[in-house]
This record gives sequence, structure tokens and C-alpha cells, in this order.
Amino acid sequence: MDIMDYTTSDGPGFRTSIYCSGCNHRCKNCQNPQTWDINHGTPTEVSEIFQHIVNNEMSNVTFSGGDPFYQPKAFAELAKMIKQNTDKDIWCYTGFTYEEIIRNPQLYDLLEKVDVLVDGRFVEELKDPDLLFRGSSNQRLIDVKKSIQKGEVVLFNYDPFCLIPTKKEKVGVC
Ligand code: SF4
Repeated sequence: MDIMDYTTSDGPGFRTSIYCSGCNHRCKNCQNPQTWDINHGTPTEVSEIFQHIVNNEMSNVTFSGGDPFYQPKAFAELAKMIKQNTDKDIWCYTGFTYEEIIRNPQLYDLLEKVDVLVDGRFVEELKDPDLLFRGSSNQRLIDVKKSIQKGEVVLFNYDPFCLIPTKKEKVGVC
């Protein structure tokens, strides 16, 4: 659908956000219903998106949509390229829950390559504008590596007052 540079609302610090098409969750009052149709937008090669990401040295990366888990193979390939060639962290938004994803090998292949998963459908009744990086209180910021290691959901410990420069002068978090 779109690629946005220097976003600050899809995770900490500056991020290159990839907004893909395709979502069947159909949450009530979804902010981007135009993304539900997988055929909406411009078909784009993974390598082209990767090059765009690499060209923006300062930013980390967020996969969003729509729901990237409706294109798990392509996003897993993109995540692999990012991890093999850069030190950028990857956040990923999805309407699936962590528990739904770990039961599905195809989805798991993408999950294990991202750093933070923002999971769960948007629930209008649980909407809270004060929540950081998510829309409704059922959605969780999940530390994927720790969760896989521990065998249970470990929430991402985000401290907005703990921003530190990383070795490449990106903005990182403790
Ligand atoms: S998961 Fe996200 S994009 Fe999909 S319907 Fe729900 S709010 Fe909209």
C-alpha cells in the first residue's frame, strides 16, 4: 500500500513503515479498511522494499497493514534479509494473536524473525487513545525472542525515558 519514512507512531524512534495490503480480520471501525483487499496497492518486489529500507540508515523497521501475516512468506524473506544485512530491529503489527501464530508453521516462520509483535484485533470497546503504539487494550507489545525462549508471552518492556544512541547513531531503547 505504502512505505513511509521516519514514522514515529509505529514503534520507538524513527522507523521505515511498510504498509501492506490484505487483512481478513475485519475489525469494527478499522482505520484502514482500504487495506483489506489484497489486490489494493502496487505489487512490489521484496528486494525493492529491502533496498528502500537500507537506504534509510537512521531508521528501524515496522511491518504493518493490513496484516503482514496474510503475506507471511514474503515478509519472512524481507525480515531475513534485514536481519542478515543490517542491525535494524523489526516491529510487526498483526490482527492474529501470538497464540494463533505459534500454532501455524507458516506464520511462525515470520514471527521468529521479528523483534516485537503488536498482536490482536482492534476492539472498539477497548479503544484507549493513551495506549502506546496500539489502539485497544487487548493488543500487546510482545518481546518475541524472550517469549519463544520462555515458552510463554513476555511483554516488551518499553521505557520511553530510556532512549540511547546506538553505535550507528540510530535511536535505540534500553
Ligand atoms: S487487523 Fe488491523 S487492518 Fe485488519 S481489520 Fe483489524 S484493525 Fe484493520
